[in-house]
Amino acid sequence: MNITTGETPQLPPARWPWQRSLQVRLALAYGILFLAALIALTIWIGQIVYSTQLNAAEHDLQVTAFLAGNALEDPLSGYESEFQRYQDRESEHEDDGRSQDDENGKEEPGNTAAQAVGLANAQIIALPRLQQMAAAYATDTGTRVTILDPNGNPLADSLLSEAEVGFQGDQPEVMAALAGVEQHEVRTDPATGKQMLYAAAPIQQNDKVLGIAQVGKSLDAVLEPTRQLLFSLVAAVLLALAATSALAVWIGRRLVKPIRELEEAALAVAQGDLSRSVPVATADEVGALANAFNHMVDHLRAMIAQQRVFVANASHELRTPLTNIKLRTEVLRTLGGEDTALATKYIAEIDTGADRLTRLANDLLDLARLDGDAWALSPAEKIDISPVLLDAANMMRMRAEGAGLKLTVDVPPRLPLICVHSEQIESAVLNLLDNAIKYTPGGGSVRLAAVAQSNLVEISVSDSGPGIPPADLPNIFDRFYRVDKSRSRQRSAKPGVGSGAGLGLSIVKTLIEQNDGAITVESAPGKGTVFVLSFPLLA
Ligand code: ADP
Repeated sequence: MNITTGETPQLPPARWPWQRSLQVRLALAYGILFLAALIALTIWIGQIVYSTQLNAAEHDLQVTAFLAGNALEDPLSGYESEFQRYQDRESEHEDDGRSQDDENGKEEPGNTAAQAVGLANAQIIALPRLQQMAAAYATDTGTRVTILDPNGNPLADSLLSEAEVGFQGDQPEVMAALAGVEQHEVRTDPATGKQMLYAAAPIQQNDKVLGIAQVGKSLDAVLEPTRQLLFSLVAAVLLALAATSALAVWIGRRLVKPIRELEEAALAVAQGDLSRSVPVATADEVGALANAFNHMVDHLRAMIAQQRVFVANASHELRTPLTNIKLRTEVLRTLGGEDTALATKYIAEIDTGADRLTRLANDLLDLARLDGDAWALSPAEKIDISPVLLDAANMMRMRAEGAGLKLTVDVPPRLPLICVHSEQIESAVLNLLDNAIKYTPGGGSVRLAAVAQSNLVEISVSDSGPGIPPADLPNIFDRFYRVDKSRSRQRSAKPGVGSGAGLGLSIVKTLIEQNDGAITVESAPGKGTVFVLSFPLLA
């Protein structure tokens, strides 16, 4: 079958191409989250490793400085004589300088450090053993070793000339060493331009400070293990990212596949292919969606089958009276006004057929309105249904009496309020009374009753008629269902009510349910039938 479809509905515009793919969005979200977590972890681990490494290096360097100091102050090592020689020379120059200043008649106090640098640079004396020691110790420990006099002037350096090293007395680690405490500093070495970590230790014999051992280590060397570890971490992060991305793509593909199948199937169904269903492969939300889709298609199929049956039944019901009318009008035409008795009979039958067609058309119209909810457009009212029931009984009284039936009405003058459309309830009750009168043989009885229960109002329509066989009971509310077709064709009391086509009870059921009510039936062949309508009381 081909259900009209039009064009496939368009998706809202996507600002970025990746917004069009759930799979890509999933992979991206997964990847970005994972990457952010790994970067944070790497930074955290890197910082811990860096500070641990720096602490260890500071400690090592301090020990190296102390060991250098110890080696230099050892009386057996003989370095003492070189310190002594330097100090003797320095005192000589100080004396020279003082006599020169005296000659010039002016002295600048508080400038001793600068003077010391000037003197050291100007009067560099060869201290080969200290120089040797600094070079050897530096090679052994992988550091740069500088030996300073107690003022901070360089005496020997493992790498540079004393002039290049310059005055060190104002460096924090040197001042700390002289004060007998430990301090380390990271700074750029102006001579090499490299970041260096420095520590210093005093060289002293008894209480006399001979000098200071200053050791420095390139920060690059200190942090090399950290760098290597970080490199390995980054490599591991990238590998993990690649693996995660692959996993995310795989998971995304698995997730998106059933959705794509659903999309295809939905489009096929929209084109009219109601044979489509999708596999329900998982127990998750996607599985539930597939399940719901299959259920929807099943339901759609059943509805369309029902519609077909309905149309076939409706056509059949329309065709029968139309054929009868057609046959009779042809006979009337051939009679040409000869047999007036037959003509009168046929005209009456044509009239009956036309009435039946009118009722059928009205019933079909009612059904269409009920299916389209058109009847429920006005809001339900809170009403006492009692007067509505009494009116309905009055309307049917003459017809009941005409059929030789006793109509009993047991409806109290007041009933608790219920929320319903009164005209719909009246139509349903008229329909039930019409059936009761139509199917109950003369001499029988029909009863309309209403009673208030604790939480509902019950309306019943009962008769002493032939009853309905148990096998038919489950189907009597189906459209076009008739128990005994010949029984149904009798004339109805009211146009539009009970066409005899098996539509009356299905209309009644829809009316009652649209008013939040329920309908039940009890019947046994030969014992009559009771239809009970119940409506909840207002809270
Ligand atoms: P119809 O318009 O043919 O009466 P309904 O839908 O009203 O169709 O009823 C369906 C069938 O139920 C009828 O064909 C009839 O056989 C049976 N039926 C309905 N009401 C009664 C009743 N009060 N007593 C016996 N049979 C009934």
